Amino acid sequence: MVPLNLLPDEKTADYIVTGEWAQYAYKELAKIGKKGNIAASSEADGFTHIPERSTWKLTNGAAYVHYTSNNTIYGTQFRELPDFGGSVAVCDMSSDFLSRPFDVTKFGVVYAGAQKNAGPAGATIVIIRKDLMEKPASKILPTMLNYKSIADKDSMLNTPPCYSIYICGLVFKWIENIGGLAKMDERNKKKAGFIYDAIDRSNGFYKGFAATRDRSLMNITFKLPSPELDEEFVKSAAAKDMIGLKGYRTVGGIRASVYNAHPLEGAEKLAQLMDEFCKSH
Ligand SMILES: *Cc1c(COP(=O)(O)O)cnc(C)c1O
Repeated sequence: MVPLNLLPDEKTADYIVTGEWAQYAYKELAKIGKKGNIAASSEADGFTHIPERSTWKLTNGAAYVHYTSNNTIYGTQFRELPDFGGSVAVCDMSSDFLSRPFDVTKFGVVYAGAQKNAGPAGATIVIIRKDLMEKPASKILPTMLNYKSIADKDSMLNTPPCYSIYICGLVFKWIENIGGLAKMDERNKKKAGFIYDAIDRSNGFYKGFAATRDRSLMNITFKLPSPELDEEFVKSAAAKDMIGLKGYRTVGGIRASVYNAHPLEGAEKLAQLMDEFCKSH
């Protein structure tokens, strides 16, 4: 939807490719006959880090620069808001939306599937600068893919997923009651901290996948000394009611996802198991 609405045929758009979702976004361009430019990529290094800002090759006059703030599968995250060099920033925030405060005025478009931090699958959140949706770039844009058509009808162009939106509303209230996004950020740093500390004090028994400075606060990825031990660790965790720890198939190892709804105690309990397992193996 982003290129169909924002990218005219005569222009290009820059993409920062830092993982699978970022790459899918880039690949969609070719499918709709649009041209894009990979301004930076960490693919050659197996997506273990976020490319340094100084290495980005942004195009002068590009329609926008697209990036993914948190790489769900690899466990890397833009920990700071990058300098977009005056380009319109478009961000897939699916896996860290509402996990920390961000300056919305710095973005042209922010989009996020509800199901990681906001509520049940079905709803998608889009925040778009009004002027960017005034004149859609594509001449053959179906109404359902036109941001302005949707906004003009207050997101009720078709029947919206009411249940999903209702639960998102309850989650927003829950976040406000907890103390807002600043508090969420504090909690998330604490949660991820428990697990990263367990990695760091294991003398290399657990190997973190992400470069230390780009570690995600949402998805913590690591490996044990062998795939057999990875498997045994997952089993030990399941025996203590900690499930869903198997890494994504393209990465392997372990992935601990600690989204907003995950309690502090859960992260602490996992870190404890990591200490015990390291000692006993
Ligand atoms: C989960 C995720 C998606 C995909 O969401 P779907 O609703 O399953 O399409 C896209 N981008 C990122 C960064 C994600 O984490």
